[in-house]
Order: sequence, then C-alpha cells, then structure tokens
Amino acid sequence: MTTQSVEKIKRKWCYIMPPRAYEVAACPTCGTPDTQWSEFEKHIWCDRCKVDFKPVHFGIFDGPIPLQSALMMGVSFDRIDLVTNERLILDPDSLEYRRVPL
Ligand SMILES: [Zn+2]
Repeated sequence: MTTQSVEKIKRKWCYIMPPRAYEVAACPTCGTPDTQWSEFEKHIWCDRCKVDFKPVHFGIFDGPIPLQSALMMGVSFDRIDLVTNERLILDPDSLEYRRVPL
C-alpha cells in the first residue's frame, strides 16, 4: 500500500494495447512488465500484486513519439473510450481519432 496522498482521477479512456507495448515501467513490487491500465489516470494496475501504482516512467510516452516508426513496429495508438465503450482509431496523417463501436 502507498501512503502518498495522491488524488486519483477515474480514467476515461486507455490505449488499446497493454502498458508493456509502450514500454511503461514494470511493477515496482514484483517486477512484472505484464501490467494493465489502471482504472485511475496516471496509474498502472498490477494483477499479481492487486495494486495500482505510478510507474517510474511511461516508456515511449515520456518523449516525442516517432509515430511512423512505432506504427511500423506494430504499436497501435488506438484508444478505448471507457465511458462510451467505443474504439477510437487514430488516423496517422491527421492525428485525429475516429470513433467506432467496440
Ligand atoms: Zn506487481
């Protein structure tokens, strides 16, 4: 359990791929890189430890993203809208998202 009093804001969307695909830091407790997006913004969920944590870094999101290279390597930046349950598909040219039902 963490003792820091960080206000947790409910996440409204998450990327379609798990944090590991974007090289987000592993769980600091058990070390697994196989984590999930937490229900809270800026947090990651470790299913092994059953805990939300703030990763020491957010992988490729910490710097400028080489979008075309990332897309070529199979990284998707599509999102899931957790409120409307829609998939948001990124148009790599306009960088706008198009909504489709899941
Ligand atoms: Zn863990």
